[in-house]
Amino acid sequence: MPEARGPLPARGALPWLLGWTALLLAGGFVIVRMDIAERREAFQADARIAHRLLSQRMVQHDAIVETLVLLGPSSAADPQGAERRLGAIYPQLLAVHRRRPDGAWPDEALREAEARSRASRHAEVAAFDAAQGRYALVLAGEPDSVALRIDLQRTVPWDTWPLPRAGPVQVALQHGAQRVLLQPGEPVASRPVGLTGGFSFTKALASPGQPFELQLQRATGPAQWPWRGLAAWAALSGLALAVLATRRAQRRERDRAQALLRLEQTARLGTLGELAGGIAHELNQPLAAVLANTQAARRLLDDQPPELATARDAMAQAAAQARRAADVLARLRRLVEAPDAARPQTPVLLQAVVRNAAALLAPEARRRGITLVIEGDAPAVLGDAVAVEQIVHNLAANAMQALEAVPASERRLVLGVRRDGARGLLSVRDSGPGIPPDALPLIFEPFYTTKPGGLGLGLSLCESLARAMHGTLAVRPAPPRGAEFELALPLAAAPADTASTQDKT
Ligand code: ADP
Repeated sequence: MPEARGPLPARGALPWLLGWTALLLAGGFVIVRMDIAERREAFQADARIAHRLLSQRMVQHDAIVETLVLLGPSSAADPQGAERRLGAIYPQLLAVHRRRPDGAWPDEALREAEARSRASRHAEVAAFDAAQGRYALVLAGEPDSVALRIDLQRTVPWDTWPLPRAGPVQVALQHGAQRVLLQPGEPVASRPVGLTGGFSFTKALASPGQPFELQLQRATGPAQWPWRGLAAWAALSGLALAVLATRRAQRRERDRAQALLRLEQTARLGTLGELAGGIAHELNQPLAAVLANTQAARRLLDDQPPELATARDAMAQAAAQARRAADVLARLRRLVEAPDAARPQTPVLLQAVVRNAAALLAPEARRRGITLVIEGDAPAVLGDAVAVEQIVHNLAANAMQALEAVPASERRLVLGVRRDGARGLLSVRDSGPGIPPDALPLIFEPFYTTKPGGLGLGLSLCESLARAMHGTLAVRPAPPRGAEFELALPLAAAPADTASTQDKT
């Protein structure tokens, strides 16, 4: 027979943990998504501002170089003065070159750019130096042509710039195949990690002569996730689930206590109530008749002369009523010994009964320091589930009381189930003081008790219930110390070769 041995199953924690994990994942996903959407919006807004600011600067360069070409021949008084002052107003302008009709450019690139400018009729970029972030802007004019040397870093208006200079956004200007980094930002992974591949913004600056493409990039990934928000969510959802779990545990505990109370009340009412009510009702009438007859007999005997014949009749009546009272008592006793013989018999799984009982008793056992163990396995028996529960409960309650007499470390209560031929056995074994050998034959007698205030009806009721289900209830010592009560009930589907055994019970 397979035997499962072990402490009571610890129910509950795992489903809550799984639920919490699911909540964490779902909530976390939403929080990260919302945060990313918010940051993308802010990034796009900043990028548009940056684009406008740099475009304005480029347009400014175009305007300056055009003005210088126009002013060229008329600034005769101090032709170089205005150009020198430009550097103070526009720090990005490193130098201004002016080629007179008879002059030459300091380098070839400027000359080529002038030729291009003449053809395109707008300023042209020359000598783009990505390493230094510099270029020249050349506009061909008559009679003079003008070139500006421009520093890109200084072109950025840092005082009104929307992005912190040492912030996470990388800003660059692309010109053809060359790229100038305006601010480094955080390194952007080439392979995107996390929920998005980061944000990016690319747009050409609004100047036909300076075809730069503004590029902004920002990394997103676990490092950028809103960890504080996620931690708050974890704490909040965990707390909410903990409160829920506690409430449910409390409700279960309350239900369990109520079930226990009901069981106890049923047991007490079932025995005491029925018995007391029955006795009162059945004995009232014969006792009243005994009293009336004896009083009448006394009066008849007091008469002068005494009415002996009638008095004798009255005494005979009294005796008959007293006999009836004795019959009533005998009948009541039979009732106690075989209650509810007609209750329907259905298949009952002893393990299920034992598990239920253990679950009900577990808190009380814990309080009393009792190790509660369930073990074994058996096919279904034929019986009345309520009656079996009642028996287990009574036996276990007795065992827990008996265990009070031994030190807490030695308190052990085993609820066992096994099969024995055509019978299913349910045993309740304790490591208490046991039952003295001379008390063993008396233990199932009604009103036998060793407890102050005990009724001595629990075991006799259990035995009656067992018999009503065609079963037996036995007791034996449980070495090294303690008592073992064993309920035997016929199996629901008895094997053919043991059918006669079942009939016998
Ligand atoms: P009550 O519990 O009211 O005394 P019971 O019929 O349930 O009535 O029990 C009768 C007596 O049997 C108890 O008073 C006790 O002396 C003895 N008894 C019952 N169960 C045990 C047990 N597990 N260990 C020792 N004695 C027991």
